[in-house]
This record gives sequence, structure tokens and C-alpha cells, in this order.
Amino acid sequence: MLLKDKVAVITGGAGINGLGYATARLMAVQGARVVVLDLAQADPAGAAARIGSQHLGLVADVTDKASCEAAIAEAVKQFGRIDILVNNAGITQPVKTLEITGTDYDRILDVSLRGTLYMSQAVLPTMRAQQGGSIICISSVSAQRGGGILGGPHYSAAKAGVLGLARAMAREFGPEGIRVNCITPGLIGTDIIKGKLTEEKKAEIAETIPLGRLGRAEDIGGACVFLGSDLSQYCTGITLDVNGGMLI
Ligand code: NAD
Repeated sequence: MLLKDKVAVITGGAGINGLGYATARLMAVQGARVVVLDLAQADPAGAAARIGSQHLGLVADVTDKASCEAAIAEAVKQFGRIDILVNNAGITQPVKTLEITGTDYDRILDVSLRGTLYMSQAVLPTMRAQQGGSIICISSVSAQRGGGILGGPHYSAAKAGVLGLARAMAREFGPEGIRVNCITPGLIGTDIIKGKLTEEKKAEIAETIPLGRLGRAEDIGGACVFLGSDLSQYCTGITLDVNGGMLI
């Protein structure tokens, strides 16, 4: 088992069709004890219970520093350590540049970018004390191709910011044995795209992807297992594209 004895925290992990839940499930299969962290309405305790009785669900809002710190304190109290953090919580909004309001901008950047910073700040002291850990940040192909299929320019900016933040943290904490890496998913069939694309549109997009299909949540979960495990022990500051070849 690749993650035996490891404790993993996954933000935005409660949505049953989401990348975070698939990641939590696959990490549990690989022997990790998982902490599913999400907003109250997403029912993280229910999600954790579905994965198994030895896992933990915690309510937290990643845009609120005190909430992040309280959740991590509880996770450490229950499990004694944190080996992996997956910064997965994110929201999107399909609008064009001239339509973005200040409130939209704040909302989108707050969850992806501020949330990644606050959650990383919350786990780093524990990882530092353990002299090791793996932080995985979920960015997006939208950061790389300049505009997403479903995310507006502020979403691309937030996700590009995540790449920079992750690389800076990788450089800063590498000497302490803490690795920080990013995954840039392509278009994955989760709730984030539900109702936003017709079946015809999805088929049209699939035809432009070398591997011929949209991604599945497990495609990202598998990449997270790799980056969380010792198989990737010499990887830090990398961006792992999981997009079916969308950028070739
Ligand atoms: P999703 O909507 O299913 O999951 C997002 C989760 O984040 C939800 O469970 C939601 O409750 C949680 N969340 C939102 N705001 C939060 C907050 N303030 N605090 C804590 N949790 C919060 O979406 P998904 O498709 O599974 O997306 C997961 C991540 O992957 C996101 O960061 C998204 O931007 C990124 N991503 C998704 C795709 C895709 O095509 N689905 C592509 C590239 C990147």
C-alpha cells in the first residue's frame, strides 16, 4: 500500500462526484487515514463515513484562516500527524473579462488562492515538526491555456497564482523535507461542469483531446496518490498535467 500509516487532509473533499472525494477514496484504499474537509452544506462527516469508519470529516471554510487552523488542530488531535495536504477546494464562474465584478474576483481568488495559502500555513508547522510532508495543489489547465472552457479569466488568474505560490513554497520548504507540487487537471466530468455543457458540447470537446474523452475524478485521484506517496520523493515544485493530452 502506497500510503500506509500516512494521514491526508483533502479540502473540498465531500462532493461525491468531485475530484476531492475521489482522491480521498483512493488515498484510503492505499492505506491512508483521510480527513475530508469541506463547507458544512457539503456534509464532510457523511463523506468521511462513506469512505470508512476510521476516517474523519471536518467542517471548515478555507477562506477563513481561523477555521483552517481549528480544523487542522482537530485533525492533529485525532490522528497525531499530517503527511499530505491536498488543496482541492475551488469554485469557478464562466464569465468574460468585462463582466467580472470586484465581488466575483474576490470570491474566486479567495477560495482557490487564499484558501491554498491558509491551509498550507495551517499544516506547515506540523509538517515542519515531522520533518516531512507533501502538499498537493489543484490548479487547472485554465492557468496554462489562458482561459478555461468553464472558468473566467479570474479563475485562470487564481489557478495561475496557485502555481506560483506552490513553487515558492516548494523552494522555501524543500530543505525541511516538505514537498509542494501542483496538478493541472483538464476538463473533468464533476459537479463543477454539471448542467453547464450539453452532451453534444462534451462530445465535441472530447474529439479535440488526444485521449478521446473528458477526465474522470479518479484520474486526478491517482495523480494525488503518486504525489502524496514516496514514489514521488524526488519531485518538488512540479506541475503534473492530467488532461488527456489537451495541451500537446
Ligand atoms: P466540485 O464543485 O465538485 O468540488 C469543489 C469542492 O470545494 C466542493 O465540495 C465545495 O463544497 C468545496 N468548497 C467550495 N468553497 C469552499 C470553501 N470556501 N471552503 C471549503 N470547501 C469549499 O468541483 P471539482 O470539479 O471536484 O473541483 C475540485 C478542484 O479541481 C477545484 O479546485 C477546481 O477548480 C479544480 N479543477 C476542476 C476541473 C474540472 O474540470 N472539474 C478542472 C480543473 C481544475
